Amino acid sequence: MQSIQAIRGMNDILPDQIGWWQRVEQTARELLSSFGYREIRTPVIEKLDLFARSIGESTDIVEKEMYAFPDRKGEMLALRPEATASIVRAFIQHNLQADPLAKKLYAIGPMFRHERPQKGRYRQFYQIDAEAFGIDDPMLDAEVMHMLRLFLERLGLTGVVLHINSLGCQECRQDYRDLLKEFLEKNVAELCPDCQRRRHTNPLRTFDCKVERCQAILADAPVLLHSICGACADHFESVKSYLDQLKTAYVINPRMVRGLDYYMRTTFEVITDRLGAQNAVGGGGRYNGLLRDLGGPDLPGIGFAIGMERLILLLQQEQSEAQRCPKIFVASLGASARDTCFLLAQQLRSLGLETEIDYEGASLKSQMRRADRLGVRHVLIMGDEEISRGEVQCRDMMNKTQTVLPLEAVAPRLQEIYKEEITENGSR
Ligand code: ATP
Ligand code: MG
Repeated sequence: MQSIQAIRGMNDILPDQIGWWQRVEQTARELLSSFGYREIRTPVIEKLDLFARSIGESTDIVEKEMYAFPDRKGEMLALRPEATASIVRAFIQHNLQADPLAKKLYAIGPMFRHERPQKGRYRQFYQIDAEAFGIDDPMLDAEVMHMLRLFLERLGLTGVVLHINSLGCQECRQDYRDLLKEFLEKNVAELCPDCQRRRHTNPLRTFDCKVERCQAILADAPVLLHSICGACADHFESVKSYLDQLKTAYVINPRMVRGLDYYMRTTFEVITDRLGAQNAVGGGGRYNGLLRDLGGPDLPGIGFAIGMERLILLLQQEQSEAQRCPKIFVASLGASARDTCFLLAQQLRSLGLETEIDYEGASLKSQMRRADRLGVRHVLIMGDEEISRGEVQCRDMMNKTQTVLPLEAVAPRLQEIYKEEITENGSR
């Protein structure tokens, strides 16, 4: 019978890979906590309207990429394409502005977009997402980007660049939109059909177009950054000054608009040149007005999302990770030794030592072969002879030495040997 395969663009993350994921998540959790962020988990399905209203009807995400479907009662739902809208919804719904500890929130989990799968672009992918509410000060904008830099640094990632821009506010965008429309009108014949449409529906989106010809034309377009109002310009100046003080390097990229409509003022992206067209590792920005637009209090907000697959692809290009393997194998010979070995293995595990045993009554030879394949450091061997003397053979696979230990001394001895590793990594 033919076996069933996973859906295209939706990946299994196998045990061989999981170490990377755990390290990235652990690093994120530690760093975010030290900056005052607390975890929130929201459902992966929401009402379609939530995303249409926040991300914007005429964005690629909502127009082309969203997994939207009616449920059994005909209500339109969607798999979340990003996390900000859901977190804002939860913040409003649970009145979290009344909780002084809920101003900064983070989430880690899968997002869904119906895109053409390729390296670094999938239909289910994971994001680490951080959001901060109620603070308008440019200090926070800089802090958020500084935190992002620290995160990548702590993981040891090099060769990525922070791009920043300001998209101004509603007012400064009004005049600029006409300016841009005029420019697009002049070049309309050369634009792709999508951009010809965008020039009416959402002209700013043309900057996000992936078609090369459009990019070339837009290189000469007027940019929003040059027409932002005084207040927005001051805000941007402060952000840059704080970034300088934090020694967080950046490049100003006036053509970066981000693919979601809710951004205003500060926007940023972390860019790599090592993943082809999938060049953004993460991005974010300020979204004052979004909470109000979603029926909540008129509070400012800022946040970012990091794509975990792209981040891990980059890390794997630069680093190699030691394979995790059990440390001890308990090999037994004969029925009575088998029971004693079983109990000894449980004792070692309860002490936090990673231990593997044979459950199948295999021959000593095949047990030794398995221990070798697992790459364990120690093999404990017990046969009827050892049982009758209350002893265990302890073979050090690294030094190729073998010692005999009294049964009751085995656990304390191994605990002693692995003590440092156990305290370093916590109990495992
Ligand atoms: P792109 O321009 O590459 O499509 P985006 O602007 O759509 O990216 P965001 O919405 O800003 O991406 O999402 C934040 C991050 O999530 C991205 O920088 C990227 O690392 C990751 N990401 C987005 N879409 C995908 C996807 N389909 N597969 C894997 N990772 C993704
Ligand atoms: Mg995209």
